Amino acid sequence: MGSLVDKVAIVTGSGRGIGRSIAEALLNEGAQVVISDINEELITQTTAELTSKGGKVLGVACNVTVSESIDKMVETVISTWGRVDILVNNAGITRDALFMRMSEEQWQAVIDTNLTSAFKVTKPVVKVMSKQRSGRIINIASTTGVHGNFGQVNYAAAKAGLIGLTKTVALEYASRGITCNAVAPGFIDTAMTQALGEEIISKVTEKIPMGRMGTPDDIAQAVVFFAGPGAYVTGQVLEVNGGLYT
Ligand code: NAP
Repeated sequence: MGSLVDKVAIVTGSGRGIGRSIAEALLNEGAQVVISDINEELITQTTAELTSKGGKVLGVACNVTVSESIDKMVETVISTWGRVDILVNNAGITRDALFMRMSEEQWQAVIDTNLTSAFKVTKPVVKVMSKQRSGRIINIASTTGVHGNFGQVNYAAAKAGLIGLTKTVALEYASRGITCNAVAPGFIDTAMTQALGEEIISKVTEKIPMGRMGTPDDIAQAVVFFAGPGAYVTGQVLEVNGGLYT
C-alpha cells in the first residue's frame, strides 16, 4: 500500500511533461489525482490513459492565470472528492529572450503563468487545507530561479519569486499542519526543453556532472517525498539537477 492512500492531489499543468509524471507518481502511492491543464485535449487523453492503469483520476480544465477558472476547478474537486490534501503548482511556460530584447509581453506572460498563478491557485486551496488542519503544497520552481540563466530574466524572476512565496506560505501555515516546499528542476527532458533544439541540448548536457538530462520522473520522486504524510520539512527548496551548478 502506498503512503498517500485516500489523499486528494491537484497537479496543475499535468496534461503532459513533468506534471503528468508527478500525477503518475502520486497515483502510484495511492492518491486520487486531479489532472488539470489549460489544454482540454491533453486532459482527456491523459485522464483516459491514467484511468486505464487503474488510477482514481479526475480531469478538470483550468487556466492558472484566470481566477474564475481556478475557483471553478477547486469547487469541482470539493464537490467530487470533498477535500484537497496535496497541491502541486506545476504549470509553467517560457518566453526566452536576452534582457534588452525581451518585450513587456514576454515578461508579463511568464510572471503571470509561473508566479502569479501560484498566488491565485494556493489561495482557495490553502483555505480548504486550513479547515482540514493538514496539507502539502509543492511548487515547481527551477535552478534558473536560484542561479539565473542567460535569456531567461523573466523566468528567473518568476521562479525566484515562487521560492519567496514558498518560504512565506511555509511560515504562515506551519502551525496549521500545512507544509510548503519547492522542487527546483535542472535540465529535464520535456517538450519545454526539446524546443531548444539539439545543439543547445547537447551543450547544456555536457555541463551536467551526472552526464544526462533529468527525466520527469526524477522530479516526481522529489515531489512524492514532500507530499508524504510525515514530512517534518517546510520552506525548503530541493534542486534536482544532476549536480548542475553545485
Ligand atoms: P511542458 O511540457 O510545457 O508542460 C507544461 C504544461 O502546463 C502543459 O501541458 C501546458 O499546456 C500547461 N500550461 C501552460 N500554461 C498553462 C496555464 N496558463 N494554465 C494551466 N496549464 C498551463 O513543461 P514541463 O517541462 O513539464 O514544465 C513543468 C514545470 O516544470 C514548469 O513550471 C516549468 O517551468 C518547470 N521546469 C521545467 C524544466 C525543464 O527542464 N523542463 C526545468 C525547470 C523547471 P500547453 O500544452 O497548452 O502549453
